Amino acid sequence: MSISRRSLLKGAVVAGAATALVGRAEAREEVEPRPDAVGMLYDSTRCIGCRACVTRCKEANSLPYDRTAEGIHDAPTDLNSNTKNIIKVWTAGEKSAFTKQQCMHCVDPSCVSVCMMGALHKEGEGKRDFAGEKKGTGVVLYDKGTCVGCRYCQIACAFNVPKFEWFEAFPLIVKCELCRHRGDPKKEGPLAIANPACCEACPREAVVYGKREALLAEAKRRLAEDPKRYNGLIYGEKEGGGTQVLYLAGAGVTFKQLGMPELPEESSASFSERVSHAPYLHGITPIALYGAMAFVIRRNKSKEEASEHHGEGK
Ligand code: SF4
Ligand code: SF4
Ligand code: SF4
Repeated sequence: MSISRRSLLKGAVVAGAATALVGRAEAREEVEPRPDAVGMLYDSTRCIGCRACVTRCKEANSLPYDRTAEGIHDAPTDLNSNTKNIIKVWTAGEKSAFTKQQCMHCVDPSCVSVCMMGALHKEGEGKRDFAGEKKGTGVVLYDKGTCVGCRYCQIACAFNVPKFEWFEAFPLIVKCELCRHRGDPKKEGPLAIANPACCEACPREAVVYGKREALLAEAKRRLAEDPKRYNGLIYGEKEGGGTQVLYLAGAGVTFKQLGMPELPEESSASFSERVSHAPYLHGITPIALYGAMAFVIRRNKSKEEASEHHGEGK
């Protein structure tokens, strides 16, 4: 007995509509930046590509020099398991612009969402003050003791940030943790993190550290003060649910040209959790949905067969 495409589609539409309805009814709560969220503001128009930040990042994080086939040659061209921070250049004819790449410390990170062991987590997650406000800096930290090396985080990250130590006997994930080790563990909030090494090293203040709120205000101030200098946008204010590292780019330069992905305002963590959790809500399991789908297909099939027989009898 063959099932017509029309029957199958009807069943799929029923199951899909049920899933969508449940999903809409129970949309996952939007994750807002916490009041003490800290991050960096990178202004591409100030960057001269000196790469002092790359070198200082390696020193501060005790990362080895990159090796090429010819030997030690520390001029990495991309993030890797020895390089948590990189400066790249975009060129088109006479025009050029620098860009910095490291972890974006997403407000609602997909790497955290997919990490089944909780090895990747936001600093302060789950903590609230007496007024109910979320606590912590929201910096995305990595706990090597609980990581099982599944590399889901690598697949989930839209910015292609987490790197894997392929050549180590017990490989770990490597990514920027906003120089957490330079902070004071006894302090809380923004004070728990000292000035990250890349910000301290930059001779142009092209990358600066601070509370996300203050960095956003500073980015807006720069755009208003000198609108002809910039492309008028702040990358990370909304993209992918927002990031704690924000970017400014020069006039006539798009963030896409600087290698930043074009992302919707909803974070991919929110989207994927909403879709995957929806069928389980209100006791509706996927099996129940597939059962409903099978019932509709069978009923439509019977109707089709009846009308076919009816037609034959004419
Ligand atoms: S940029 Fe990637 S690794 Fe960093 S917090 Fe966002 S999802 Fe995670
Ligand atoms: S914050 Fe620290 S680890 Fe992150 S890019 Fe800057 S120097 Fe490197
Ligand atoms: S140190 Fe500052 S100016 Fe030099 S490459 Fe890094 S961000 Fe650009």
